[in-house]
Amino acid sequence: MTYRRFMCVGCLRRWTNSSATKVLPFMPAFLCSMCESRERIYREEEIDNKRFAEWTPDEVESLAVYQSSYWFLPFVCEKVHVLQALPNGLRCSKCDFWLRWAYDWTLNWSWQDIDGTGGSGVTVRKPSPDPLGEISIALQPPDEPEDE
Ligand SMILES: [Zn+2]
Ligand SMILES: [Zn+2]
Repeated sequence: MTYRRFMCVGCLRRWTNSSATKVLPFMPAFLCSMCESRERIYREEEIDNKRFAEWTPDEVESLAVYQSSYWFLPFVCEKVHVLQALPNGLRCSKCDFWLRWAYDWTLNWSWQDIDGTGGSGVTVRKPSPDPLGEISIALQPPDEPEDE
């Protein structure tokens, strides 16, 4: 997928109109084409701590607060819109897209105990040579990708 602008979490360079790969499915952490082969990329099929909807009101609330948290990467659609937590899944109202699962730890408030400086918000966290860089990525979601 080509993105107008993004910051690569591998080399921390800012790219424009370049191809990028997501490190994690449905999360806005990107690798440039140069870093792609050197870094671990997680595929949706190999994530084993998915929890599928329906979710309880408390789980939805945990996920909703997670989605708007300061430290962690939110779940997003293909166009990098932040998804809304609902009892039957995560929804992008702009794209009419549904994601029917979330990580178990985003649903039970345990994400609040994770040290946020890791930045990526995954249980399998990659050590960062530049924690500040990762935080700034989490705080500045990239622009929407081009439609075509
Ligand atoms: Zn890179
Ligand atoms: Zn969307």
